[in-house]
Amino acid sequence: MSATPPRRVVVTGGAGFVGSWLCEALLDDGASVVCVDNLLTGRQDNVADLLDRPGFEFLQRDICEPLDVPGDVDWVLHLASPASPPHYLAMPIETMRVGSMGTMNALDLAERKAARFVLASTSEVYGDPLLHPQPETYWGNVNPVGPRSVYDESKRFAEALTTAYRTSRGLDTGIVRIFNTYGPRMRLDDGRAIPAFLTQALAGDPITVAGDGSQTRSICFVTDTVAGIRALAAADDAGPVNIGSPYEVSMLELAETVRDLVGTSSEITFVPLPQDDPRVRRPDTARAERLLGWRPVVGPDEGLKRTLEWFRGQLEARRLGHPGG
Ligand code: NAD
Repeated sequence: MSATPPRRVVVTGGAGFVGSWLCEALLDDGASVVCVDNLLTGRQDNVADLLDRPGFEFLQRDICEPLDVPGDVDWVLHLASPASPPHYLAMPIETMRVGSMGTMNALDLAERKAARFVLASTSEVYGDPLLHPQPETYWGNVNPVGPRSVYDESKRFAEALTTAYRTSRGLDTGIVRIFNTYGPRMRLDDGRAIPAFLTQALAGDPITVAGDGSQTRSICFVTDTVAGIRALAAADDAGPVNIGSPYEVSMLELAETVRDLVGTSSEITFVPLPQDDPRVRRPDTARAERLLGWRPVVGPDEGLKRTLEWFRGQLEARRLGHPGG
Protein backbone atom coordinates (compact mmCIF):
# COMPACT_ATOMS: atom_id res chain seq x y z
CA MET A 1 0.00 0.00 0.00
CA SER A 2 1.23 3.50 -0.78
CA ALA A 3 2.20 5.28 2.45
CA THR A 4 0.65 8.65 1.63
CA PRO A 5 -3.07 8.96 0.99
CA PRO A 6 -3.97 10.95 -2.14
CA ARG A 7 -4.64 14.67 -1.74
CA ARG A 8 -6.37 15.19 -5.08
CA VAL A 9 -8.01 12.62 -7.33
CA VAL A 10 -9.55 12.89 -10.81
CA VAL A 11 -12.45 10.45 -11.29
CA THR A 12 -13.66 10.13 -14.88
CA GLY A 13 -17.24 8.84 -15.05
CA GLY A 14 -17.66 10.19 -11.51
CA ALA A 15 -21.36 11.01 -11.98
CA GLY A 16 -22.17 7.40 -12.85
CA PHE A 17 -23.37 4.63 -10.56
CA VAL A 18 -20.00 3.31 -9.30
CA GLY A 19 -18.14 6.61 -9.88
CA SER A 20 -20.43 8.63 -7.60
CA TRP A 21 -19.90 6.18 -4.71
CA LEU A 22 -16.17 6.35 -5.37
CA CYS A 23 -16.15 10.19 -5.31
CA GLU A 24 -18.05 10.13 -2.02
CA ALA A 25 -15.71 7.59 -0.40
CA LEU A 26 -12.63 9.60 -1.47
CA LEU A 27 -14.11 12.82 -0.03
CA ASP A 28 -14.91 10.94 3.20
CA ASP A 29 -11.21 9.98 3.32
CA GLY A 30 -10.23 13.65 3.13
CA ALA A 31 -9.15 13.80 -0.54
CA SER A 32 -10.21 16.52 -2.98
CA VAL A 33 -12.05 15.12 -5.98
CA VAL A 34 -12.39 16.37 -9.55
CA CYS A 35 -15.32 14.52 -11.10
CA VAL A 36 -15.20 14.53 -14.91
CA ASP A 37 -18.34 13.34 -16.67
CA ASN A 38 -20.28 14.19 -19.81
CA LEU A 39 -23.50 12.70 -18.35
CA LEU A 40 -23.84 10.28 -21.27
CA THR A 41 -25.22 7.56 -18.97
CA GLY A 42 -24.62 9.18 -15.58
CA ARG A 43 -26.73 11.77 -13.79
CA GLN A 44 -25.80 14.98 -12.06
CA ASP A 45 -28.29 13.93 -9.38
CA ASN A 46 -25.85 11.20 -8.36
CA VAL A 47 -23.38 13.85 -7.17
CA ALA A 48 -25.91 16.51 -6.12
CA ASP A 49 -25.12 15.92 -2.43
CA LEU A 50 -21.39 16.29 -3.10
CA LEU A 51 -21.52 19.64 -4.90
CA ASP A 52 -21.50 21.63 -1.64
CA ARG A 53 -18.78 19.58 0.00
CA PRO A 54 -15.38 21.27 0.27
CA GLY A 55 -12.87 19.80 -2.15
CA PHE A 56 -15.41 18.56 -4.70
CA GLU A 57 -15.41 19.88 -8.27
CA PHE A 58 -17.67 18.74 -11.10
CA LEU A 59 -16.47 19.21 -14.68
CA GLN A 60 -19.02 18.37 -17.36
CA ARG A 61 -16.57 17.27 -20.03
CA ASP A 62 -16.14 14.55 -22.63
CA ILE A 63 -12.94 12.64 -21.81
CA CYS A 64 -12.61 11.83 -25.53
CA GLU A 65 -11.37 15.44 -25.81
CA PRO A 66 -7.93 16.23 -24.30
CA LEU A 67 -8.37 17.29 -20.68
CA ASP A 68 -6.38 19.73 -18.60
CA VAL A 69 -6.93 19.95 -14.86
CA PRO A 70 -5.00 22.80 -13.25
CA GLY A 71 -3.08 21.96 -10.07
CA ASP A 72 -1.58 18.79 -8.65
CA VAL A 73 -3.25 15.41 -9.08
CA ASP A 74 -2.17 12.22 -7.25
CA TRP A 75 -4.51 9.66 -8.84
CA VAL A 76 -6.50 9.48 -12.09
CA LEU A 77 -9.23 6.84 -11.75
CA HIS A 78 -10.73 6.17 -15.18
CA LEU A 79 -14.30 4.89 -14.97
CA ALA A 80 -15.89 6.76 -17.88
CA SER A 81 -17.69 4.31 -20.20
CA PRO A 82 -21.22 3.12 -20.79
CA ALA A 83 -21.42 -0.13 -18.79
CA SER A 84 -24.89 -1.61 -19.09
CA PRO A 85 -25.61 -3.73 -22.21
CA PRO A 86 -28.63 -1.65 -23.35
CA HIS A 87 -26.45 1.48 -23.10
CA TYR A 88 -23.40 0.19 -24.96
CA LEU A 89 -25.51 -1.58 -27.57
CA ALA A 90 -27.34 1.71 -28.24
CA MET A 91 -24.06 3.70 -28.24
CA PRO A 92 -21.46 1.39 -29.80
CA ILE A 93 -19.22 4.11 -31.27
CA GLU A 94 -19.33 6.27 -28.13
CA THR A 95 -18.35 3.18 -26.12
CA MET A 96 -15.37 2.41 -28.36
CA ARG A 97 -14.33 6.08 -28.44
CA VAL A 98 -14.24 6.39 -24.66
CA GLY A 99 -12.43 3.04 -24.31
CA SER A 100 -9.77 4.15 -26.79
CA MET A 101 -9.47 7.95 -27.08
CA GLY A 102 -10.94 8.55 -23.64
CA THR A 103 -8.48 6.15 -22.05
CA MET A 104 -5.58 7.76 -23.93
CA ASN A 105 -6.59 11.24 -22.75
CA ALA A 106 -6.93 10.03 -19.16
CA LEU A 107 -3.51 8.34 -19.40
CA ASP A 108 -1.98 11.52 -20.86
CA LEU A 109 -3.42 13.56 -18.00
CA ALA A 110 -1.92 11.11 -15.46
CA GLU A 111 1.43 11.30 -17.24
CA ARG A 112 1.50 15.12 -17.22
CA LYS A 113 0.63 15.12 -13.51
CA ALA A 114 2.98 12.22 -12.63
CA ALA A 115 -0.11 10.64 -11.07
CA ARG A 116 -1.03 7.00 -10.55
CA PHE A 117 -3.59 5.84 -13.14
CA VAL A 118 -6.20 3.15 -12.50
CA LEU A 119 -8.35 1.70 -15.27
CA ALA A 120 -11.81 0.37 -14.38
CA SER A 121 -11.83 -2.71 -16.59
CA THR A 122 -14.39 -5.47 -16.47
CA SER A 123 -15.03 -9.18 -16.14
CA GLU A 124 -16.34 -8.85 -19.72
CA VAL A 125 -12.72 -9.10 -20.90
CA TYR A 126 -13.19 -12.84 -20.15
CA GLY A 127 -16.15 -12.94 -22.57
CA ASP A 128 -18.10 -16.20 -22.39
CA PRO A 129 -15.45 -17.90 -20.23
CA LEU A 130 -14.20 -21.43 -20.82
CA LEU A 131 -12.56 -21.45 -17.40
CA HIS A 132 -14.53 -21.17 -14.17
CA PRO A 133 -14.04 -19.30 -11.86
CA GLN A 134 -11.97 -16.76 -13.78
CA PRO A 135 -8.43 -15.98 -12.56
CA GLU A 136 -6.60 -12.89 -13.86
CA THR A 137 -4.30 -15.17 -15.87
CA TYR A 138 -7.19 -16.29 -18.11
CA TRP A 139 -7.14 -14.55 -21.51
CA GLY A 140 -10.84 -14.81 -22.23
CA ASN A 141 -13.19 -15.95 -24.95
CA VAL A 142 -14.55 -12.89 -26.77
CA ASN A 143 -16.26 -12.80 -30.16
CA PRO A 144 -14.58 -9.75 -31.78
CA VAL A 145 -17.46 -9.13 -34.19
CA GLY A 146 -20.37 -10.04 -31.89
CA PRO A 147 -22.73 -7.36 -30.53
CA ARG A 148 -21.01 -7.23 -27.12
CA SER A 149 -17.56 -6.69 -28.64
CA VAL A 150 -17.96 -2.89 -28.64
CA TYR A 151 -17.70 -3.03 -24.85
CA ASP A 152 -15.51 -6.10 -24.34
CA GLU A 153 -12.94 -5.15 -26.96
CA SER A 154 -12.82 -1.49 -25.97
CA LYS A 155 -11.95 -2.57 -22.42
CA ARG A 156 -9.40 -5.08 -23.73
CA PHE A 157 -7.87 -2.29 -25.83
CA ALA A 158 -7.90 0.01 -22.78
CA GLU A 159 -6.03 -2.65 -20.79
CA ALA A 160 -3.45 -2.99 -23.58
CA LEU A 161 -3.05 0.80 -23.82
CA THR A 162 -2.66 1.13 -20.05
CA THR A 163 0.00 -1.59 -20.12
CA ALA A 164 1.82 0.15 -22.99
CA TYR A 165 1.99 3.45 -21.06
CA ARG A 166 3.42 1.51 -18.12
CA THR A 167 6.03 -0.45 -20.05
CA SER A 168 7.08 2.18 -22.61
CA ARG A 169 6.67 5.41 -20.62
CA GLY A 170 7.06 4.28 -17.03
CA LEU A 171 3.64 5.50 -15.94
CA ASP A 172 2.43 4.15 -12.59
CA THR A 173 -0.70 2.21 -13.57
CA GLY A 174 -3.16 -0.31 -12.19
CA ILE A 175 -6.01 -2.30 -13.74
CA VAL A 176 -9.04 -3.47 -11.81
CA ARG A 177 -11.41 -5.97 -13.42
CA ILE A 178 -14.81 -5.28 -11.90
CA PHE A 179 -17.46 -8.02 -11.81
CA ASN A 180 -21.23 -7.44 -11.70
CA THR A 181 -21.88 -4.68 -9.19
CA TYR A 182 -25.25 -3.46 -7.93
CA GLY A 183 -26.70 -1.00 -5.45
CA PRO A 184 -28.44 2.33 -4.98
CA ARG A 185 -27.97 4.93 -7.79
CA MET A 186 -28.39 2.39 -10.57
CA ARG A 187 -30.79 3.87 -13.09
CA LEU A 188 -34.35 2.56 -13.30
CA ASP A 189 -33.73 1.98 -17.02
CA ASP A 190 -30.25 0.51 -16.47
CA GLY A 191 -31.29 -2.79 -18.04
CA ARG A 192 -28.95 -5.05 -16.07
CA ALA A 193 -30.61 -7.95 -14.23
CA ILE A 194 -31.04 -6.52 -10.71
CA PRO A 195 -32.51 -3.13 -11.72
CA ALA A 196 -34.66 -4.81 -14.38
CA PHE A 197 -36.03 -7.43 -11.95
CA LEU A 198 -36.61 -4.86 -9.20
CA THR A 199 -38.51 -2.40 -11.42
CA GLN A 200 -40.63 -5.21 -12.87
CA ALA A 201 -41.39 -6.72 -9.44
CA LEU A 202 -42.21 -3.33 -7.90
CA ALA A 203 -44.64 -2.61 -10.75
CA GLY A 204 -46.21 -6.06 -10.37
CA ASP A 205 -45.21 -6.80 -13.97
CA PRO A 206 -43.87 -10.16 -15.15
CA ILE A 207 -40.17 -10.62 -14.33
CA THR A 208 -38.40 -11.42 -17.59
CA VAL A 209 -35.52 -13.89 -17.39
CA ALA A 210 -33.30 -14.48 -20.43
CA GLY A 211 -32.95 -18.03 -21.76
CA ASP A 212 -33.82 -20.70 -19.19
CA GLY A 213 -32.26 -18.59 -16.41
CA SER A 214 -29.51 -21.10 -15.64
CA GLN A 215 -26.74 -18.64 -16.62
CA THR A 216 -24.94 -17.27 -13.57
CA ARG A 217 -23.46 -13.99 -12.38
CA SER A 218 -21.65 -13.11 -9.16
CA ILE A 219 -23.11 -9.99 -7.62
CA CYS A 220 -21.12 -7.53 -5.53
CA PHE A 221 -22.54 -4.60 -3.54
CA VAL A 222 -21.23 -1.25 -4.72
CA THR A 223 -19.52 -0.19 -1.46
CA ASP A 224 -17.43 -3.37 -1.62
CA THR A 225 -16.48 -2.73 -5.26
CA VAL A 226 -15.49 0.84 -4.39
CA ALA A 227 -13.34 -0.38 -1.48
CA GLY A 228 -11.57 -2.71 -3.93
CA ILE A 229 -10.91 0.06 -6.46
CA ARG A 230 -9.50 2.31 -3.72
CA ALA A 231 -7.34 -0.52 -2.38
CA LEU A 232 -5.78 -1.10 -5.81
CA ALA A 233 -5.28 2.65 -6.29
CA ALA A 234 -3.41 2.77 -2.97
CA ALA A 235 -1.33 -0.31 -3.78
CA ASP A 236 1.92 -0.31 -5.69
CA ASP A 237 0.71 -2.91 -8.18
CA ALA A 238 -0.06 -3.05 -11.89
CA GLY A 239 -2.79 -5.67 -11.63
CA PRO A 240 -4.97 -6.75 -13.24
CA VAL A 241 -6.90 -7.60 -10.09
CA ASN A 242 -10.39 -9.09 -10.06
CA ILE A 243 -12.82 -7.24 -7.80
CA GLY A 244 -16.07 -9.11 -7.40
CA SER A 245 -18.10 -11.30 -5.13
CA PRO A 246 -17.80 -15.08 -4.99
CA TYR A 247 -21.60 -15.13 -4.42
CA GLU A 248 -22.66 -16.75 -7.71
CA VAL A 249 -26.34 -16.98 -8.50
CA SER A 250 -28.36 -18.17 -11.49
CA MET A 251 -30.61 -15.56 -13.10
CA LEU A 252 -33.70 -17.64 -12.30
CA GLU A 253 -32.71 -17.87 -8.61
CA LEU A 254 -32.06 -14.13 -8.58
CA ALA A 255 -35.48 -13.40 -10.11
CA GLU A 256 -37.13 -15.57 -7.44
CA THR A 257 -35.14 -13.88 -4.66
CA VAL A 258 -36.15 -10.43 -5.90
CA ARG A 259 -39.79 -11.49 -6.22
CA ASP A 260 -39.80 -12.78 -2.60
CA LEU A 261 -38.02 -9.70 -1.30
CA VAL A 262 -40.49 -7.33 -2.97
CA GLY A 263 -43.38 -9.55 -1.86
CA THR A 264 -45.15 -9.48 -5.22
CA SER A 265 -46.95 -12.22 -7.09
CA SER A 266 -45.29 -11.24 -10.41
CA GLU A 267 -44.93 -14.27 -12.63
CA ILE A 268 -41.53 -15.14 -14.07
CA THR A 269 -41.46 -15.29 -17.87
CA PHE A 270 -38.67 -16.21 -20.27
CA VAL A 271 -37.28 -14.22 -23.22
CA PRO A 272 -34.61 -15.23 -25.76
CA LEU A 273 -31.02 -15.23 -24.53
CA PRO A 274 -29.01 -12.38 -26.11
CA GLN A 275 -26.24 -13.40 -28.52
CA ASP A 276 -22.90 -14.28 -26.84
CA ASP A 277 -24.39 -13.96 -23.35
CA PRO A 278 -21.84 -15.45 -20.90
CA ARG A 279 -23.03 -18.78 -19.42
CA VAL A 280 -21.16 -18.39 -16.15
CA ARG A 281 -19.32 -15.65 -14.29
CA ARG A 282 -17.43 -15.81 -10.98
CA PRO A 283 -14.18 -14.15 -10.03
CA ASP A 284 -11.21 -15.92 -8.57
CA THR A 285 -10.43 -13.34 -5.85
CA ALA A 286 -7.31 -14.97 -4.39
CA ARG A 287 -5.15 -12.20 -5.83
CA ALA A 288 -7.30 -9.38 -4.40
CA GLU A 289 -7.20 -11.05 -0.99
CA ARG A 290 -3.45 -11.64 -1.06
CA LEU A 291 -2.38 -8.30 -2.58
CA LEU A 292 -4.97 -5.94 -1.18
CA GLY A 293 -6.40 -7.78 1.81
CA TRP A 294 -9.76 -7.15 0.11
CA ARG A 295 -12.87 -9.23 0.22
CA PRO A 296 -16.54 -8.21 0.01
CA VAL A 297 -18.33 -7.74 3.32
CA VAL A 298 -21.93 -6.87 2.33
CA GLY A 299 -23.98 -10.04 1.84
CA PRO A 300 -26.68 -10.35 -0.82
CA ASP A 301 -29.56 -10.11 1.69
CA GLU A 302 -28.46 -6.74 3.01
CA GLY A 303 -27.29 -5.46 -0.39
CA LEU A 304 -30.52 -6.35 -2.16
CA LYS A 305 -32.59 -4.83 0.66
CA ARG A 306 -30.70 -1.53 0.41
CA THR A 307 -31.06 -1.55 -3.38
CA LEU A 308 -34.78 -2.28 -3.14
CA GLU A 309 -35.24 0.73 -0.83
CA TRP A 310 -33.50 2.94 -3.40
CA PHE A 311 -35.65 1.67 -6.28
CA ARG A 312 -38.83 2.14 -4.21
CA GLY A 313 -37.76 5.74 -3.50
CA GLN A 314 -36.96 6.40 -7.17
CA LEU A 315 -40.28 5.02 -8.38
CA GLU A 316 -42.14 7.06 -5.75
CA ALA A 317 -40.26 10.22 -6.81
CA ARG A 318 -41.14 9.51 -10.43
CA ARG A 319 -44.82 9.00 -9.48
CA LEU A 320 -44.78 12.41 -7.75
CA GLY A 321 -43.16 13.98 -10.83
CA HIS A 322 -39.79 14.63 -9.17
CA PRO A 323 -37.12 14.92 -11.89
CA GLY A 324 -34.62 12.70 -10.00
CA GLY A 325 -36.97 9.70 -10.16
P1 NAD B 1 -22.39 4.22 -15.49
O1 NAD B 1 -22.91 4.24 -16.87
O2 NAD B 1 -23.34 4.48 -14.38
O3 NAD B 1 -21.17 5.22 -15.32
C1 NAD B 1 -20.30 5.55 -16.37
C2 NAD B 1 -20.10 7.05 -16.36
O4 NAD B 1 -19.21 7.41 -17.41
C3 NAD B 1 -21.42 7.81 -16.61
O5 NAD B 1 -21.59 8.80 -15.61
C4 NAD B 1 -21.21 8.44 -17.99
O6 NAD B 1 -21.93 9.64 -18.14
C5 NAD B 1 -19.70 8.60 -18.01
N1 NAD B 1 -19.15 8.71 -19.37
C6 NAD B 1 -19.37 7.87 -20.42
N2 NAD B 1 -18.70 8.31 -21.49
C7 NAD B 1 -18.03 9.43 -21.11
C8 NAD B 1 -17.16 10.34 -21.78
N3 NAD B 1 -16.85 10.17 -23.08
N4 NAD B 1 -16.65 11.38 -21.08
C9 NAD B 1 -16.96 11.55 -19.77
N5 NAD B 1 -17.78 10.73 -19.10
C10 NAD B 1 -18.31 9.68 -19.75
O7 NAD B 1 -21.68 2.80 -15.30
P2 NAD B 1 -21.10 2.12 -13.98
O8 NAD B 1 -21.85 0.87 -13.77
O9 NAD B 1 -20.98 3.11 -12.90
O10 NAD B 1 -19.64 1.71 -14.49
C11 NAD B 1 -18.51 2.53 -14.21
C12 NAD B 1 -17.26 1.87 -14.76
O11 NAD B 1 -17.05 0.60 -14.14
C13 NAD B 1 -17.30 1.63 -16.25
O12 NAD B 1 -16.03 1.88 -16.82
C14 NAD B 1 -17.62 0.16 -16.36
O13 NAD B 1 -17.12 -0.40 -17.54
C15 NAD B 1 -16.95 -0.40 -15.12
N6 NAD B 1 -17.61 -1.63 -14.69
C16 NAD B 1 -18.83 -1.57 -14.06
C17 NAD B 1 -19.44 -2.75 -13.68
C18 NAD B 1 -20.78 -2.77 -12.97
O14 NAD B 1 -21.30 -3.86 -12.69
N7 NAD B 1 -21.37 -1.62 -12.64
C19 NAD B 1 -18.84 -3.99 -13.97
C20 NAD B 1 -17.63 -3.98 -14.63
C21 NAD B 1 -17.02 -2.80 -14.97
